[in-house]
Amino acid sequence: MPDLMLLALLLAAIAIGWWLGRREQGRSTSASPPTNRLSRDYFVGLNYLLNEQPDQAIETFVQALEVNSDTIETHIALGNLFRLRGEADRAVKIHQNLLARPALTAGQSDQVQLELARDFLHLGVLDRAERLLQPLARECPDETRRQTAKRLLVDLYEREREWHKALETAHPQLTRQDAATRRAAAHWLCELAELDMHSASPALARKKLRQALSIDDHCVRANWLLATLERDTGHYKQQIRLLQRLAEQDRDFIPIILEPARDAYLKLEDEDGLERCLTQWIERAPHISTIIMLARQIEQHDGLEAAARYVSEQLARTPSLRGLDYLMSLYLDTPDPDQRQPVTLLKQHTAKLLEARPRFRCHRCGFAGGQLHWQCPRCRQWGTTKPITGLEGE
Ligand SMILES: [Zn+2]
Repeated sequence: MPDLMLLALLLAAIAIGWWLGRREQGRSTSASPPTNRLSRDYFVGLNYLLNEQPDQAIETFVQALEVNSDTIETHIALGNLFRLRGEADRAVKIHQNLLARPALTAGQSDQVQLELARDFLHLGVLDRAERLLQPLARECPDETRRQTAKRLLVDLYEREREWHKALETAHPQLTRQDAATRRAAAHWLCELAELDMHSASPALARKKLRQALSIDDHCVRANWLLATLERDTGHYKQQIRLLQRLAEQDRDFIPIILEPARDAYLKLEDEDGLERCLTQWIERAPHISTIIMLARQIEQHDGLEAAARYVSEQLARTPSLRGLDYLMSLYLDTPDPDQRQPVTLLKQHTAKLLEARPRFRCHRCGFAGGQLHWQCPRCRQWGTTKPITGLEGE
């Protein structure tokens, strides 16, 4: 048995012992003769615990400990302890056993139902959790519990990808209260807009994306999707305008909009515009992808040496592994074979180093990978994953 659990069970045992002691004390002052059954149960339970038989120990303690206003918190805590330990099925048993007792007040019953819903969420039994949470979220007289029920429901709907229901539950109260829910709500609208885009309803998608921006004006995904809609209908100027707005919203996302921006400028046959735009973005944030894209433009009209000079200057200011790799690939294009051989060797090293590098990282939990996730697969937060910057990134 893990040390933490043993310690917690011992604490619970002490609490139960204290309660039993107090009970016996109360009884000895009254007329009825004291009984030893509960104390015996307590010692039997303690014995199981010391012999590392936690299942029997719990069973005995739960039986020994009557459910009343003094012990209800201990019962709830015991259940929660099991859930935290990953044994939610045991937590369900304890909390269900509590709910069946007539001694509970309405407030205590609500509290136990919340915990039971958490157990079911933990077990992935979402329909039962939902049935417990819905009435609590609607009509629980205690404001804090009502809010908690709403948050748990939102979490549940997110898991089921029921974006409409998540929005209905969270908006407007929860989205007003905290930034994380606001950010999430904008992403739910983006999810719904993507469904509209797939079913060829661009007008509906636009409406949802504008709503997303009105809830969270930092939502880069909304502008990203709006730009995609403009591209799909051949409105390249509008597409560029939206991508520029996205770069103003969050300059860390510039690396992901470079390709679509270049494609749009090329469709408009406006290479000067592309270079002006890239220069502006580099001033805003010297990401190496932007620098490389501009260097490719320079290479086209001013030649290899000019491009290499430009990249070297930029690297002196902003060191970057990918920049170095690109610079070497420029040198490999030179006609002199003596110059090419050592560079080939070095380039193999940088290529290997780069291969092993993730491109995106969640700034909340640190999850990193080669793909941009709008919702982090590890911590499930929305909009926290960004392109990696610095020496080994952008
Ligand atoms: Zn994360």
